[in-house]
Amino acid sequence: MDCLFCKIIAGEIPSNKIYEDEQCYAFYDIDPQAPVHFLVIPKEHITGANKITEKNSAVVGHIYAVIAKITKELGTGDDYRVVSNCGKMAGQTVGHLHFHVLAKRNLAWPPG
Ligand code: C5P
Repeated sequence: MDCLFCKIIAGEIPSNKIYEDEQCYAFYDIDPQAPVHFLVIPKEHITGANKITEKNSAVVGHIYAVIAKITKELGTGDDYRVVSNCGKMAGQTVGHLHFHVLAKRNLAWPPG
């Protein structure tokens, strides 16, 4: 499958890995937008948040639990933002569901 993030999971494209288990993979974003900026992706190829269904959604809860664990380990405290861009107008550039985690700076609201 011609998917950048599937290739990262497979180790065909290098990434700065933070965490991996049977369901998900976490790595630092190549173009960080905050002092801490990493991505967590399901190993299953789901193209975006709009393709989450009752059948495949368990991994999303798991990813949030993994995020809580990683942020603790990285010492971000309890302050962080989780973002999943869905569709071009929302800024999605990679067609594999991913959750950005940003921390260690003040984050404006609403986002741009
Ligand atoms: O939400 P969006 O689809 O734009 O996010 C994709 C993210 O994947 C970007 O923040 C980009 O920097 C990151 N990326 C990466 N490693 C790559 C290619 C893209 O961390 N090899």
